[in-house]
Amino acid sequence: MKLARFTTQGTTRLGRIDGDQVIDLSKLGHGASMRALLDACAGDLSAVAAVKGPAFPLDQVTLEVPIDDPQKFLALGMNYADHVAGAAGQGFTAPDSQTWFSKQVSCLNGPTGDIVIPRVSDEVDYEGELVVIIGERCRYVPREDALGVIAGFAVGNDVSVRDWQKRSPTFMLGKGFDTHGPVGPWITTLDEVPDPQMLSIRTWVNDELKQDDTTDQMIHKVADQIAYISQAFTLMPGDVIMTGTPAGTGMERGTYLKAGDVVRIEIDGLGTLENHVVKEA
Ligand code: MN
Repeated sequence: MKLARFTTQGTTRLGRIDGDQVIDLSKLGHGASMRALLDACAGDLSAVAAVKGPAFPLDQVTLEVPIDDPQKFLALGMNYADHVAGAAGQGFTAPDSQTWFSKQVSCLNGPTGDIVIPRVSDEVDYEGELVVIIGERCRYVPREDALGVIAGFAVGNDVSVRDWQKRSPTFMLGKGFDTHGPVGPWITTLDEVPDPQMLSIRTWVNDELKQDDTTDQMIHKVADQIAYISQAFTLMPGDVIMTGTPAGTGMERGTYLKAGDVVRIEIDGLGTLENHVVKEA
């Protein structure tokens, strides 16, 4: 199943993608809150599957970020060996343990939303990433049970303002600028992703292929990530996790995004983000 948020006729609603249509889930009573829907379903999406309509043509709605109200928006840095090697030349050191930081919930952006270059930096960079959305409240999740707490997966761009990221020991400011968290185009539920560590992930800027890797190259696999962080805090339905980026970021290439660029990120079976880059006025 593919769960989305979409806007039509000036109203944002929850939806289920069904071929070239999106089924309006308003009658379930959760407004436009994916967090509320996931919390109410507690892993059982049969009520969502049972909704028959109304339906809208997919090409006549605007897809929004599939969840805009998670309690937490977490991200793992330095999680692909070739990216770690590339970043080493930029002053980042290879970590001995999982390197977590938070992105701001307020930076979540939709699959076609503009990425804004802020007036305070020219070093805005893309990071194509597999995104995990948690499906149930959990703590101390054993590695072998970890995939079972996932609601689904999406495509993400961990947009990074490199000079701000490098300026302090924590990445927080440089990772949370407004619009710098595109996620989408929808949440593909766990049952439709046979192995999250066997997904091709590719990033293009203006049709030039910049990142081309598979998720089996992750240093810390998705299950290890959930097992590790759930030792620290309770994960909640709707929590969003970015799982690290492969090699080929602009930082490694010495080029940053500029106004007019189009960043396209695709993961097999999960869909595509296509975000235009604009300069803040
Ligand atoms: Mn990242």
